[in-house]
Amino acid sequence: MKLIDGNAIAQEVLAEVKNRVAKLSPVIPHVAFVRVGEDPASVSYVTKKQKTAAEVGMKASLKVFPESVSKEELFAHLDALNADSTVHGILIQAPLPKHLPETEVFNRVSANKDVDGFGTQSIGRLVQELPGAFAACTPAGVIELLRRSGVETAGKHAVVVGRSLIVGKPAAVLLLAKGCDCTVTIAHSRTRDLPTIVRQADIVVAAIGKPKFITADMIKPGAVVIDVGINRVPDSTKKTGYRIVGDVDFEGVSPKCAAITPVPGGVGPMTVAMLMQNTLNACERAQSRG
Ligand code: NDP
Repeated sequence: MKLIDGNAIAQEVLAEVKNRVAKLSPVIPHVAFVRVGEDPASVSYVTKKQKTAAEVGMKASLKVFPESVSKEELFAHLDALNADSTVHGILIQAPLPKHLPETEVFNRVSANKDVDGFGTQSIGRLVQELPGAFAACTPAGVIELLRRSGVETAGKHAVVVGRSLIVGKPAAVLLLAKGCDCTVTIAHSRTRDLPTIVRQADIVVAAIGKPKFITADMIKPGAVVIDVGINRVPDSTKKTGYRIVGDVDFEGVSPKCAAITPVPGGVGPMTVAMLMQNTLNACERAQSRG
């Protein structure tokens, strides 16, 4: 069994990004973060992304709004960021409070700056396989992990468990696209006999949000397993009182796999690395547009 080391692969991607950033000087790629409220997970994700941006020589700015922010106020800020030519990427940290219409908010970001890839244009461009389409960072990270680990994908049966807009659906689109060339099945909570379907997979992408949901009996010997899940489970031995586990029962599944990602240290670091790559691409494209 090969352990796919997301930290090491993310470092590889970030080193390449850093080199390309240096070549753009005096232009500095700038990613603008927008956070609404103080959700601890969102605070920690944005902090990590800001820190990584600084490490690769990018500028990261952050605007924090209170939970009560109105759609109009948020849109005015997004419009200003869209109009600011020194800003190359805009990321609105999800989840948003219930009163803000998420799709409308994501669509307010200019398509050229949609480095999170959640806008309608980005998703359409991805499905159309247009060059330069921004792919959502987590599924893009999944593909990069497969590619850089030398996993053969062409003609393989990939089963994606989860159909969210953020992970499952774009992961399926990317696996299906020319270059990856998988035969793709997407499963979800209404799928009948999930274990039988997952057992047919050469590549399993688990994006469910349920700790250790994918168990050894669902895995075909020699499959490649990518665990997107990030779940907090109580653990009294930890200072925080919890530990992070994936959607895959790593201990049970790993002996059966050809390769598997750990949690933490698998897909998570890749999400951040792909955000940096998307921002750099946005900046390079803005430069070539002049
Ligand atoms: P969502 O809750 O949006 O989607 C979960 C998906 O899993 C849904 O499509 C749901 O089906 C499906 N599902 C739920 N229960 C079952 C079940 N019993 N059988 C089959 N399918 C089921 O989650 P996300 O896609 O946003 O995230 C998934 C996981 O990935 C989470 O653990 C999240 O924390 C993690 N994540 C990790 C990231 C990273 O950087 N590593 C980034 C983003 C997310 P249905 O649509 O029918 O409800």
